[in-house]
Amino acid sequence: MTIKDYPYLYETHLHTLPGSACAHNSGAEMAEAAHLMGYAGIIITDHNWGGNTGIDRALPWEQWVDGFITGYEDALEYGRKHDLDVFWGYEAGYEGTEFLIYGITPDWLKAHPEIRSADVKEQYRLIHEAGGMVIHAHPFREAGYIPEIRLYPEYVDGVEGINAAHSSSRSKGHHNPEYDRRAIRYANEHDLPITAGSDIHTTNLLGGGVSFKRRLTSVQDYCRAILSGEDYVLTNGDAVYDKRGTLLYKLAETRL
Ligand SMILES: [Zn+2]
Ligand SMILES: [Zn+2]
Repeated sequence: MTIKDYPYLYETHLHTLPGSACAHNSGAEMAEAAHLMGYAGIIITDHNWGGNTGIDRALPWEQWVDGFITGYEDALEYGRKHDLDVFWGYEAGYEGTEFLIYGITPDWLKAHPEIRSADVKEQYRLIHEAGGMVIHAHPFREAGYIPEIRLYPEYVDGVEGINAAHSSSRSKGHHNPEYDRRAIRYANEHDLPITAGSDIHTTNLLGGGVSFKRRLTSVQDYCRAILSGEDYVLTNGDAVYDKRGTLLYKLAETRL
């Protein structure tokens, strides 16, 4: 899948084993599926200690981080061999409210165990201090694991306006395009940048992500591109949207 004029598609929300207890595939398997689908790159975003992590929280901190990045490391190995960019981030959980964290490194995480007890405001401060960014993941999803919708426009850098699990015709869970429409409206009301990702847990990829005119050089480069308002488009795998979340065209109609 390649989007016209924006050929570098990045999956920004992807889960692997063993970092995410709810994932079904290893990092290498996820990387291979993304490569075969035509992605330029993927960002691994496993569930952290506040979410559905697959790593024993009782482990010493550095060991926990080492276990947590296993999916990233084996995806990275695949990526190096197959010219797929593999970047690292994580999905932070606060009693069901979730944030995608980008732009920091596993070494930073090891050196900052205080992030484990940070509230949403403190998370924002710490991640910014480290040069990273905080994106509110699927802010309007309604699900059993989310007791209430809580919004923090002052403590995020952007909003996941398109979560392909909500709006892709191929989604098998959490499907309700209204969640995306609300997220896009919310982001625009607060003038927050909008991202897109698939929240994918298996190799049956949905094709969502953010697509750029150029190849990214790092996850920090991804942060800069989003925060600086670089030209990019969003997709849920079915359609292409501009970076404010306005529908541009359906992909099936334009696919060669
Ligand atoms: Zn999950
Ligand atoms: Zn997720």
